[in-house]
Amino acid sequence: MKKILFVTSEAHPLIKTGGLADVCGSLPKALVELSQDIRLIIPNYQALETTESVRFLFSLRVDNRNINILETTMPDSQVIVWLVDYPAYYNYPGNPYVDEQGKSWLNNAERFGLFCRIVVEVAMDRVHQDWKPDIVHCNDWQTGLVPAFLSLEHDRPLTIFTIHNMAYQGIFPASTATSLNLPGQLWHLGGLEFHDNLSFIKGGLVYADYITTVSPTYALEIQTPEYGYGLEGLLEYRKESLGGIINGIDLEQWDSTTDQAIAQTYSETTLANKKLNKIALQERFGLPVNDDVPLLGLIGRLVEQKGIDLIIECLPDMVTMGLQFVLLGSGDKGFEKQLKDLALLYPDTIAITIGYDEALAHLIEAGSDVFLMPSRFEPCGLNQMYSQRYGTIPIVRKTGGLADTVTDTLPETLANETASGIVFNEASPSALLEAIKRTLVLYSLTDTWEKMQLNAMRKDFSWHRSAQEYLALYEKL
Ligand code: ADP
Repeated sequence: MKKILFVTSEAHPLIKTGGLADVCGSLPKALVELSQDIRLIIPNYQALETTESVRFLFSLRVDNRNINILETTMPDSQVIVWLVDYPAYYNYPGNPYVDEQGKSWLNNAERFGLFCRIVVEVAMDRVHQDWKPDIVHCNDWQTGLVPAFLSLEHDRPLTIFTIHNMAYQGIFPASTATSLNLPGQLWHLGGLEFHDNLSFIKGGLVYADYITTVSPTYALEIQTPEYGYGLEGLLEYRKESLGGIINGIDLEQWDSTTDQAIAQTYSETTLANKKLNKIALQERFGLPVNDDVPLLGLIGRLVEQKGIDLIIECLPDMVTMGLQFVLLGSGDKGFEKQLKDLALLYPDTIAITIGYDEALAHLIEAGSDVFLMPSRFEPCGLNQMYSQRYGTIPIVRKTGGLADTVTDTLPETLANETASGIVFNEASPSALLEAIKRTLVLYSLTDTWEKMQLNAMRKDFSWHRSAQEYLALYEKL
């Protein structure tokens, strides 16, 4: 049994702004189920919510500040949670990183810098809890200084740093290094300095004993200039200590046999019931109700990363192909307007809902025949996994976690029963259109299509599998 201190700035259901929270909520749970001794440590934000009781555990003094550590557990699990209670830094309205207007908190470097220092005190058991972890598992830039500070300690735990998205790095002016009172040994180009700035993520990338990211393909991609944001050289230098482990999905929340948010539950043996969801989806979006017409769905942030611009370019051609398209998402205002304009122009083919709606997301996953995910980059991605579990065939670009979780449909993958989607290479409208055309041909071959659906539904996307890979890594280290 390993003692693991799991360090994160968000974890579902306590506090969530994105996919990071899903991983940091699920992975510790799955590790506890594998009998590991794990504690999750997280700032006690104003917006943090829990149904479990919270008790005072101990106080400590860091940087001349008095900090309390509170203890609770994750709702519906045995995971012990340590809340870092320091109201002057964490009791803010809004979310962990930005205010209600979406502006970053001006003292984010100080807020997460202090969090990292506190984690180090806990990790070295200078807080007298008689619990010293074997492994400190850090996630994303907010926790990046932990491996850096720990590298200066004797008899320290091993450190792992997981990258959930290289696009976010925690870069601050060089003067922050002084205000944070960073030890001089860490301040150089091979350390935390990055183009005359302080880089939190470099703390993880330079000093962690091992780096993981959320898919094997993304682990390779970030070693190239296209995906590495100037850190590709460092990542390539560390490639012997860098690997990818695919995220799992919440199999209870995403279960077509019990899903309360869809019109009709279904399974591999009652796949015909899936079409009742298609009808419900067409009605909900005001599209002509027709079981024969292939229905393509998309859910997600409307940003360039997700290839939304490619979809917008393709839509005028797509409407001539005898299909329907539904989209749920929000993001870039320009994309939102272009999509709404296209829906007005082609009301029988395109339907758009701008917003965030989890129940509707479930109905789209269940009711669509095909799910579109032409991302430019995708560290792991979740929707392509939900889709496959729901027998909805994903069209994905061959990048990151999409490349690792979707098997293209080819004669050989049909023969060995692995074909589960359509994969295309180039991030261009013509490549996406070709992929859609190829999909429509397969859709018309009813038997083949059903085989693809069953292959997709039988894939193992459990956290159990993923947690076992992390555990094997902890043991190897
Ligand atoms: P990312 O974390 O890059 O946004 P992922 O595919 O990893 O992309 O995860 C996105 C998650 O957020 C999925 O669970 C997806 O269903 C959900 N989601 C995104 N946009 C919406 C929306 N508008 N309504 C409901 N759920 C959404």
